[in-house]
Amino acid sequence: MPNYVLKVSELVQLSPTAKAVRLGLDGKPFIFQPGQFVMMELDLEKTGRFKVKGGKSKIQKRPFSMSSTPLQQKYLEVTVKTTEDSFVSDYFVNYLQLGEVVGVTGPFGKFFLDEKSAKPNIMLIGAGSGISPLMSMLRHIYQKNLKIRTHTLYSNRTENEILWRKEIESISSSSKNFSHEFTLTRESWKGTTGRINKDMIVGSGFNLSETDFYLCGSPDFVKMMEKLLTEELNINNERVKKEVYN
Ligand SMILES: Cc1cc2nc3c(=O)[nH]c(=O)nc-3n(C[C@H](O)[C@H](O)[C@H](O)COP(=O)(O)OP(=O)(O)OC[C@H]3O[C@@H](n4cnc5c(N)ncnc54)[C@H](O)[C@@H]3O)c2cc1C
Repeated sequence: MPNYVLKVSELVQLSPTAKAVRLGLDGKPFIFQPGQFVMMELDLEKTGRFKVKGGKSKIQKRPFSMSSTPLQQKYLEVTVKTTEDSFVSDYFVNYLQLGEVVGVTGPFGKFFLDEKSAKPNIMLIGAGSGISPLMSMLRHIYQKNLKIRTHTLYSNRTENEILWRKEIESISSSSKNFSHEFTLTRESWKGTTGRINKDMIVGSGFNLSETDFYLCGSPDFVKMMEKLLTEELNINNERVKKEVYN
């Protein structure tokens, strides 16, 4: 049984394939750490707009990271992006309605920003929907004015897939404690192109021995980034924290 039953209070289109889904907390406290996730459960056939095929259950459950911060007490927000072969994420992005009810259990996960033991620098490295928990951490550091320099490295295939672009840019322009680099892997543009590499990490200007790294994205992406950090840049594994979306 989910420990919260929350209603969709807002839906924000972030790109052609992604939405922020906000679930109203209506005064209920929900305590979590920036970076953690919840299990969301819902009846995909309840509104009659979506059909579950292949004998699968109409009640489906998936993990989603919070992209909102613990300071946001009006709603819990998740950032959902459809995948190439999507099912529940397709429902969230293309069928979910305002007022619909979602069962929420959690929070879960060891991938979170530990303010107390954090290094002076943090590098958030994500791809696609992997920005979701990193956004929670970035917003948290910004809103609480924590003395942590934060660099966000965010990879997408195309420019219109960059999620939360304006907010990330605005946080970076607010103070010298924040910076970011977006890179595209399938399109040329005025900015950086290609997969996240050693030069982009070194280019942050951070003292890497005084930096914690937070990685989030597909299994291949996280594996590649972990290899880059630990093998090419000799970063101690303990300072590389990972969330894998599989
Ligand atoms: C800790 C964690 C946190 C995560 N956080 C996020 C997050 O913040 N944001 C995010 O976007 N993702 C997140 N994910 C990933 C997310 O939980 C899902 O795994 C992802 O969205 C894919 O789920 P899906 O149901 O769309 O696809 P799958 O579970 O892979 O299902 C796809 C399959 O369903 C079939 N299918 C398609 N339509 C139908 C239908 N109508 N009826 C029956 N079958 C159908 C397809 O043909 C395909 O075979 C997270 C994962 C983890 C582990």
